Amino acid sequence: MANLASNKWYLWYLREVANGHLELPDYEENEDGSVKIYYGELFCRVPDCSKAQKKYTATNNLRTHLESHEDIELQEGNNGGRVAQKVVDEAVKWYKGLFSGIEPQAGGERSISVDSSAGQSASGLPPLPVKKDGSVHVTNMRKKVVEFGRKVPCDSCANRNDCCKDIDKCDHFVHFDCGEIHPTLAPSQPTTEEGTA
Ligand SMILES: [Zn+2]
Ligand SMILES: [Zn+2]
Repeated sequence: MANLASNKWYLWYLREVANGHLELPDYEENEDGSVKIYYGELFCRVPDCSKAQKKYTATNNLRTHLESHEDIELQEGNNGGRVAQKVVDEAVKWYKGLFSGIEPQAGGERSISVDSSAGQSASGLPPLPVKKDGSVHVTNMRKKVVEFGRKVPCDSCANRNDCCKDIDKCDHFVHFDCGEIHPTLAPSQPTTEEGTA
């Protein structure tokens, strides 16, 4: 679904889990005891899974992997077919909630793993233009962004002056290999502890 594949929070999720910067919250359970898997999820969230940083090529492949975990119950999904917009919206909200772009909800443990090896540039993305002090070189970044055929300001930045400055807000950072610069993680992971939905 184009809607999700181009969402910057989803793209950050894919990147920041794979590079070890973002540790995902544990699964919530559905009413029937099965684990809740959001639309588009590609990483296993079973605590201490050795494959935690492995990005599966599709959610169905993740489901296949999850079946190898003894304690995990999967919901019989309506695999394939059209996905309701509601389902996508809910997923986007969850991905966004992993980062600080959303008000953190109460509860949940902060779990951040800092991995010093996370700066690899195996991403195939152009490096983020930075100044000597390591901060973003705004002028050069905007130049690149325009070269990529994208607009300044982006949809998330109100005006040109604000764009390409804040990785937590601006849409354009995700198109670069940002090295040691990461979007801020949510101070507490959102957890929903509802018995009934
Ligand atoms: Zn696993
Ligand atoms: Zn921007």
